Amino acid sequence: MSAHAALVVVTGDDALRATTTRELTRRYGTDYAIVSCASAEGVPAALEDSGRPPVAVLYGGLADDDPEEGLGVLRRLHAAHPEAVAVALVRWGAWETTRPIFEALTLGELDRWLIAPEEPLDEAFHRQVAEHLEEWASRRGGGFEAFRMIGHRWSPRTQYLRDQFSRNGVPLGFYEPDSEEGRSLLQGLELDAPRFPVVVLRFKPDRPVLQDPTDVELAEALGLFTPLDPAAVYDVVVVGAGPAGLGASVYAASEGLSTLVLEAEAVGGQAGTSSKIRNYPGFPTGISGSRLTFSSYQQAWAFGSTFHFMRWAQGLRQEGGLHVLDLSDGTSVRSRTVILSLGASWRRLGVPELEALVGRGVFYGAAVSEAPAMRGRHVFVVGGGNSAGQAAVHLSRYAEQVTVLVRRPSLTDTMSDYLIRELEALPNVTIRPRAQVVGGAGTEFLEHVVVRDLDTGEETREPGVLFLLIGSQPRTDWLAGTLARDRWGFLLTGQALLEPDVAPAWPLERPPALLETSVPGVFAAGDVRAGSVKRVASSVGEGALAVTLVHAHLAAARAAAAEAARQPAGG
Ligand SMILES: Cc1cc2nc3c(=O)[nH]c(=O)nc-3n(C[C@H](O)[C@H](O)[C@H](O)COP(=O)(O)OP(=O)(O)OC[C@H]3O[C@@H](n4cnc5c(N)ncnc54)[C@H](O)[C@@H]3O)c2cc1C
Repeated sequence: MSAHAALVVVTGDDALRATTTRELTRRYGTDYAIVSCASAEGVPAALEDSGRPPVAVLYGGLADDDPEEGLGVLRRLHAAHPEAVAVALVRWGAWETTRPIFEALTLGELDRWLIAPEEPLDEAFHRQVAEHLEEWASRRGGGFEAFRMIGHRWSPRTQYLRDQFSRNGVPLGFYEPDSEEGRSLLQGLELDAPRFPVVVLRFKPDRPVLQDPTDVELAEALGLFTPLDPAAVYDVVVVGAGPAGLGASVYAASEGLSTLVLEAEAVGGQAGTSSKIRNYPGFPTGISGSRLTFSSYQQAWAFGSTFHFMRWAQGLRQEGGLHVLDLSDGTSVRSRTVILSLGASWRRLGVPELEALVGRGVFYGAAVSEAPAMRGRHVFVVGGGNSAGQAAVHLSRYAEQVTVLVRRPSLTDTMSDYLIRELEALPNVTIRPRAQVVGGAGTEFLEHVVVRDLDTGEETREPGVLFLLIGSQPRTDWLAGTLARDRWGFLLTGQALLEPDVAPAWPLERPPALLETSVPGVFAAGDVRAGSVKRVASSVGEGALAVTLVHAHLAAARAAAAEAARQPAGG
């Protein structure tokens, strides 16, 4: 019987090859073919002998005296097996390999590096191998399907739901109605005139079927719609479960505060849509945004935070010394303090014919779940920031050609240097400066975009798919008049509230705390805050800092209440 996938070890170093192969065979030899070769040339025949399984992980040995050679071998093998995770294998103490490895990681030629095992039972080695296999499994998709969705790939509703499922870490199998599997699934469900998307809840014993379900129906099916106790008063309500809100909820709950988190969409916010975050401390080879934020969500939940999904806050008022948040489902929650971590959302291009095709060839953000569908296509990425750069790198794995369109003459002022270098090194990525998308057309799906050369004014019609990452704006319209905002809508906090002409003005004698908004006891953290550094780590940090300020606010309120209680009545 042939194995379902292979782990390939390639190195001319006999001892390194022998120990690594031995350890892999002992632990993984039952489920995977372990293919061990002294050179890249031997790999095709060895895979053939194993029944031609797909390659899950490529381990390429890097010799201390010539690491480049090993990297070259890995590059060639990776080109032949692009879905495999490429890992540089080094001996402990082979420090000469450090520089070339980090260069290759920066250029996206390598996914990970690993210190080879010296002795049996090297658990640190095996923990990393397990991570490589997990990364491969998530790249490949498949596996357990808690939900099955049958729908049209380019329907905006289907896309939205797929994105929400994937960002919330819900295992979903997706099938198009005219595919062979889709047809057979529909036949089995015996639906007369199915309303798409059709969603089958396979994790429930009776496997209920929903047709074109609303968000609320899905949240109920997932058990996410538990009603809140209307009498509850929380120490802190966190609005928004992006990095800032998740950071706040981990610290708040772990420090004993009763914590409710409200999230309108999916856990992770913008970070959850990023395929790889390279600059978050502690993850030297990067981590997918959804994995990072989903782990924080589990951590916050384990500390006792309550999460309330698919309802958004749409009003903030004060009543009886408490803050009241009015929610989109008509209910309200009461709290002693509030942390607003509302983040930001994508700025729209404003070209009506392209807006009409959103989800059908026009995407805002990186749309991680759509990347594999870009195979063989020409993709345009519009934007000059880091988000656009990362999207281009991710899409280049699948698309035939990626063109990054920027209005400025270069990317240097807006994109990190490491990303520019990575883009420049990718053979199927072109950066086109002084270019602007001004139109496009298509019936079912985007057929072409119209690109204007900003120097010559010439306009060209070009076939392709459009990913728009042109900056973000805060989601604070519902707070206009309630909280002081800057002219772009970002929330003003701390010293900024004491500037002249700020409205509403700071109402107290004491100065506002660092992250406090114009309503005392309401704090802002992360991208939504004016002047914040728009990064994952800084958002998490602001969330944690906001909790310290919440503690101080609650302590002051308790002290004031105790003082008031000591005063004689009428005194
Ligand atoms: C594609 C992409 C790649 C990126 N890559 C990196 C990177 O590599 N490194 C890095 O440091 N930064 C990166 N960033 C930036 C980083 O993701 C953001 O700075 C960070 O996510 C901001 O966190 P936040 O919690 O403040 O807001 P957000 O992540 O925007 O989260 C806000 C959350 O609040 C929810 N919300 C908003 N309004 C309401 C409401 N009224 N009621 C309930 N919920 C509400 C939203 O649904 C959202 O989930 C990237 C951003 C993008 C889009």
